[in-house]
Amino acid sequence: MPQKVIGLIGGMSWESSAEYYRIINETVRARLGGLRSARCLMWSFDFGEIEALQHAGRWDEATAELVGAARRLERGGADFVVICTNTMHRMADQVQAAIGLPLLHIADPTAERIRAAGLSRVGLIGTAFTMEQDFYKGRLASRHGLDVLVPGADDRAVVHRAIYEELVRGRAEPSSREAYRAVMARLVARGAEAIILGCTEIMLLVGPEDSAVPLFDTTALHAAAAVDWALADL
Ligand code: GLU
Repeated sequence: MPQKVIGLIGGMSWESSAEYYRIINETVRARLGGLRSARCLMWSFDFGEIEALQHAGRWDEATAELVGAARRLERGGADFVVICTNTMHRMADQVQAAIGLPLLHIADPTAERIRAAGLSRVGLIGTAFTMEQDFYKGRLASRHGLDVLVPGADDRAVVHRAIYEELVRGRAEPSSREAYRAVMARLVARGAEAIILGCTEIMLLVGPEDSAVPLFDTTALHAAAAVDWALADL
């Protein structure tokens, strides 16, 4: 029985899609050994086009783009679909409804790992869309029983700005790392027992040494869960 084919919707940004590709292949090699690597397809967007739709609030058009990408992967032979960004899970339900393949939602393996660690009160950092709208926090709360804290307005602006002005452009600035450390510390002071790195580029900026509580990196957890699905029947 061959591995299942992972269908990756990437390019949002490619800086984090490259991490997905690396982690998925490293994980398959660690689990299967030798020269084994993942069977996968990636549709990679021009992020300039997607970012413009996001910031203009043109979510219907962005949804149509994501649905189109998922259908391309389905036609290409993917067995399941992975959206390689937290923010674009805003339209996860519509994408799932438009295809005949399962969608591996990024919030689920993240929340399962948090629950398995015996934690329930979590801080969430990500884009303003992820921190402020309900599509992500709502799933963490209603499906997984997590109590989600987001930073205050000024801190949300700092986190959002660094994502779009630095991280998706391949830059990790020490001043932003310091700012993120302070944002996370304020969440911990409010009772967060863990922090979700709820944007797939944040792992390029901060690591465990930057936080007093455990960090749950959605990029690594989502990529590892994709390998679990791909190897499930082997
Ligand atoms: N990769 C980021 C995320 O996980 C932000 C880029 C995007 O807007 O999709 O939310």
